[in-house]
Amino acid sequence: MTSILVHYQEIALKGRNRPYFIGQLVRNVRRQTADLGVKDVRALMGRIEIVLGPSAGYEAVSERLRHVFGIANFSKAGRAARDLESVASAVLADLEGHRPVTFRVSAKRGDKTFPMTSPQLERELGARIVERLGWPVKLERPEMVVTVEVLPNRIFYSFGKEKGAGGMPTGVSGRVACLMSGGIDSPVAAYRLMRRGCSVVPVHFHSYPYLSRASQEKARELTEVLTRYQMHTTLRLVPFGELQRQVVLSVPAPLRVVIYRRLMLRIAERIARASRAKALVTGEVIGQVASQTLENLTVIADATSMPILRPLVGTDKEEIVAEAMRIGTYEISIVPDQDCCQLFTPRSPETHARRWQVEEAEAKLPIEDMVRAAVEATATEEFRFPPPTS
Ligand code: ATP
Ligand code: MG
Repeated sequence: MTSILVHYQEIALKGRNRPYFIGQLVRNVRRQTADLGVKDVRALMGRIEIVLGPSAGYEAVSERLRHVFGIANFSKAGRAARDLESVASAVLADLEGHRPVTFRVSAKRGDKTFPMTSPQLERELGARIVERLGWPVKLERPEMVVTVEVLPNRIFYSFGKEKGAGGMPTGVSGRVACLMSGGIDSPVAAYRLMRRGCSVVPVHFHSYPYLSRASQEKARELTEVLTRYQMHTTLRLVPFGELQRQVVLSVPAPLRVVIYRRLMLRIAERIARASRAKALVTGEVIGQVASQTLENLTVIADATSMPILRPLVGTDKEEIVAEAMRIGTYEISIVPDQDCCQLFTPRSPETHARRWQVEEAEAKLPIEDMVRAAVEATATEEFRFPPPTS
């Protein structure tokens, strides 16, 4: 069996965008597997075929496919000529030596000119497996499903399939900038947008040299994990300590967190526009911490005219933690660091910041100069997966 058959999410495929969607998915699969000796990746009537070369192992390729958004499921597959005898002998040859299991055959005709109906093909092929191997047929929840897909000039067969990452292919939904701390929530927020086809530019604010470099290191590690999915990420590291020092000089302690967040949004907006991102993403959750009351979220959001996407807004911490564990960011996020928001921040921040209070506090600050200086001092780091060979 020298191919992998990839099935994509049907729902997203309706209408005029279909060819674009499929083309992007094919390109993404090619890029993800570029270093593995894959012979070909091609779109074939409602599925994608990956032709494994002599050096491309199924395990290595499937590990990559688990990170490709837009894939509903995939399976190792064999090819046969387009007649019952050929497919039966190929299937039997590949099942030989397999331990006996309950099974059923599931046939799909991508090409309706095939002389047998799907149920006929299922019955014929099933009968031959029973006859040769003596395996029991079980229609409801068998241990193995032998899938046969009839296309215009060949038949594919496969034994069981693996669930893919779901979502939409990276790149089809445009670019967004995600305010990414070293915490648990915002990397999950970034992942959610990636899964919907967005390219995410992570923007991390750090207080080095006032605090250690730990949060930057976490941002890099998180970016590395997320880059497995989108393959190329430009991480932005914004020095924020100097701005915080200025805020502390004139802003009453309870209001500082709100002012920090508003500054972050303004800076992130500039960075987003410069990289042609169309929205900002945060890991904010209603009521999770004092700074995330409805009132505060509203006053914070007022600092920017860009849309703010909050994919986690209605989720519980438990759900976010489970997702962070699944995607591999949790272990990095729980490493203790000194987040910039702990710097010069009181224990009891304002939970109901009013717009007039915020405006009064900001009137004493050279906001535009602060934002410009931070944007100019922002560092850029590129991440690629698979790592470039050279
Ligand atoms: P997280 O787990 O994402 O850090 P949190 O529960 O700690 O979230 P807050 O500290 O109130 O919540 O931060 C709210 C949001 O503000 C974060 O989800 C993130 O989008 C953004 N944010 C906070 N700190 C930073 C930072 N240092 N760099 C970039 N974005 C940040
Ligand atoms: Mg945090």
